[in-house]
Amino acid sequence: MNCPHGHKEMKIKKSEEKVCFRDVQLSIPVEQYVCPECGEEAGTIDQAAAIQKSIADAYRKSAGLLTGKEIVEGRKKLNLTQDDLVKKMSVGIASIKRWEGAGIQSKSMDQALRSALHGQNTGDSCTGNRSFSLPRIKLVFVELEKALGKKLLKKNDKMLFAAKYLWYADMIAHRETGQSMTGATYAALPLGPQLNNYRELIEDIIKADPSSDEPLSPEEKRILTRVALRFPREQLVLKAAHGEPAWKKKSNGQLIPYTDSGELTAL
Ligand SMILES: [Zn+2]
Repeated sequence: MNCPHGHKEMKIKKSEEKVCFRDVQLSIPVEQYVCPECGEEAGTIDQAAAIQKSIADAYRKSAGLLTGKEIVEGRKKLNLTQDDLVKKMSVGIASIKRWEGAGIQSKSMDQALRSALHGQNTGDSCTGNRSFSLPRIKLVFVELEKALGKKLLKKNDKMLFAAKYLWYADMIAHRETGQSMTGATYAALPLGPQLNNYRELIEDIIKADPSSDEPLSPEEKRILTRVALRFPREQLVLKAAHGEPAWKKKSNGQLIPYTDSGELTAL
């Protein structure tokens, strides 16, 4: 790479730089080109990407989260492909790819990652003994919307209400059938139980083809009817969820395991 000011070839310079990221001071290794004559600095796209990854990893280290490298190494140690990890954790492949790169996982997803990378079958309590299924989530919403006579899921939805209906449906199914309806994982957020990673899933739920997975059983349909009858208005499901010990006892971001389904009080 030549200096843009007409000087000769620039030289690679390695240094430690201080950056502030999410209010944390981080020291990261930086590699870029510097002109020995005028001091002009320039970086390639690859170098910029490496810096992004260094920032993400330094931040994760400081926050006690697994780094991208640790996730890749942990996965390879267990001989798991990214797809295997997707199945184990009930997340999208895009999430795994991001976390192994410059993306930063939430605390609850870090917890799930650690369990999965220890080879534990925690997928069971996270997913309620069912493989995560977007088509089934769609099926549940279609059924609930029919019973409630209104739309629950809209574009750019924050799922404030929809996630609570879904949570009750999954938890009650787990309690009564030993298996969740959708395999979804839930986290305790300030506004109540929420579908984990909902921001990344919502478009896929809306687009999902409900006929591409097992149809709802009569028992599951009966549970959904009960959920709709118990919470005919959205405010009711919100209020009920906020009264559940299964949510109240959790710290912010903590996963709500299906094993708590026995503690439900509203239904
Ligand atoms: Zn120069």
